Amino acid sequence: MRATRLYAPTLRETPAEAEVKSHQLMLRAGMIRKAAGGLYTYMPLAWRTLKKIMNIVREEMDAAGGQEIAMPIVQPSEIWKETGRWSVYGEEMFRVADRHGREFCLGPTHEEMVTTLIRDEVRSYKQLPLMLYQIQNKYRDEIRPRFGLMRGREFIMKDLYSFDKDEAGMNESYKLMYDAYTRIFSRMGLDFRPVEADNGAIGGGHSHEFTVLAEAGESNIAYCTSCDYAASDEKAELKVIKAPEEDMKSLEKVPTPGAHTIALVAQCLNLPLEKTIKAVAFQSDRDDLILAFVRGDHDVNDVKVVNLFEDAIELHMASDEAIIAAGGVPGFMSPIGLKEGTRVVVDATVMEMFNACAGANEKDVHYINVNPKRDFKDVTVADIRMIKEGDACPHCGAPVKMTRGIEAGQVFTLGTKYSQSLHATFLDENGKEKPLVMGCYGIGVSRTMAAAIEQNNDENGIIWPKAIAPFEVVVVPVNAKNEDQLRIAEEIYDELKNKGVDVLLDDRKERAGVKFKDADLIGYPLRITVGPKAVDEDTVELKIRRNGEVCTAAKADVAAKAIEMLEEL
Ligand code: ATP
Ligand code: MG
Repeated sequence: MRATRLYAPTLRETPAEAEVKSHQLMLRAGMIRKAAGGLYTYMPLAWRTLKKIMNIVREEMDAAGGQEIAMPIVQPSEIWKETGRWSVYGEEMFRVADRHGREFCLGPTHEEMVTTLIRDEVRSYKQLPLMLYQIQNKYRDEIRPRFGLMRGREFIMKDLYSFDKDEAGMNESYKLMYDAYTRIFSRMGLDFRPVEADNGAIGGGHSHEFTVLAEAGESNIAYCTSCDYAASDEKAELKVIKAPEEDMKSLEKVPTPGAHTIALVAQCLNLPLEKTIKAVAFQSDRDDLILAFVRGDHDVNDVKVVNLFEDAIELHMASDEAIIAAGGVPGFMSPIGLKEGTRVVVDATVMEMFNACAGANEKDVHYINVNPKRDFKDVTVADIRMIKEGDACPHCGAPVKMTRGIEAGQVFTLGTKYSQSLHATFLDENGKEKPLVMGCYGIGVSRTMAAAIEQNNDENGIIWPKAIAPFEVVVVPVNAKNEDQLRIAEEIYDELKNKGVDVLLDDRKERAGVKFKDADLIGYPLRITVGPKAVDEDTVELKIRRNGEVCTAAKADVAAKAIEMLEEL
């Protein structure tokens, strides 16, 4: 391809509306243009990268036994009513009516569609396992479409659905997909972690999010520095920390005037935070009070607290009135001396403390010599702590690090949730009718392109991993008006093309500075520069975008050298 024929209008200035790097750089590199909030046109460079991502995804889905299909984007409301999701999905669903007033939606996902597709024709265990997938636009009317392609209202997703005869089969399909996803993100050259995820509303089973590590990510993840453990902070389990054993002294009240935060208490009594117990008061969506206690230097993980109570869906901070009604004093709360029946959750690590300090349910007063095992009555003990950097890995004990990541894909086991509500059954070996056991597996193709940029950029622009670069190599004649330079550049370009390299010739009659800036901004992995030295001394320059490394070669050797360098990238 020649740059004179490429539609990629680059911008020198960073557009004000773009907050994150990937959005800014895709606009500046002439890759995308906005049509409306969360709706973008993919221009030629972006589409080339997206096609490479889709090809990798497709190859791995096929290799794992997936069969590609294409279901309609427009879906009838009836099937969504059968599962009850027509109402549950709420405002995120784009809804349309046809000329007869019949209701449809633009598919945000396809569980209903694919399950109703197969329910009448998959009748026997002999037809299982079955894995069907597609790569197409999805539609979600997100409350806050933002960050360019990261959270769009129309985006490209690969969605695969697995159908098995039993849970063991489902777990095998899950493993196949987990491994395929690992290969996909590795082949794309991305630094990623499969992260144990909370599978929230879907319940039961397993789920992993494939997270591309990048500062702009919306997920907080903890990963081990020694083994391959990684989990979202909400989900990360923590080991109990045992304090060194001490003789239990007797409980004592001490004045702590004005010390209504744990930091002030520690200061007032000259204690390390690890010797203190801090309280967090929540109210559930039904307004029940839940008091949570963790060590002073720890934080409460409210997702873990919610999961302890079947009747709670969401927690918010408790009102002072609710705390007082339970016999507590805001700022001085204690598990000791609350009204009977108050729900108290104590972190398992707190139970292992000796002679600690906690509130006394009295204004300006704290207890010292609190020994939870002796003093706390009627409390629920559980792991309710939020992981933080330096905590011990729950698998191997090495310290964990915290990082931010972008969820690029997710694998889920669904069990029989959809097959039951949609009556998708089969006959097993004994002729017994059973619901199909399902899994679903998504990759945000367009979000992955954005995530790749978030992870791979510098002050000059994008640094594409080779496998998903719009072009692998750009050949730049420094002065395209010079016939000798242009001829040499064209010959190198032709040779590379013939050898199967994905190459662009920047034959534009622009200043060299402009072409170099564009090459850095668009981020081709390798740049080959043909200047006066190529004409006078038979010396052509090759430059690696990622590290700026430069080497030279005679024209006859350039193609071989370029291919060798690409192989090492
Ligand atoms: P999120 O939690 O970010 O909203 P999700 O859990 O709703 O995502 P899934 O239903 O699991 O997403 O969809 C599969 C994949 O589709 C996600 O892993 C993500 O990469 C991508 N995706 C989801 N929503 C969007 C969006 N609004 N824009 C771009 N990609 C998206
Ligand atoms: Mg998800």
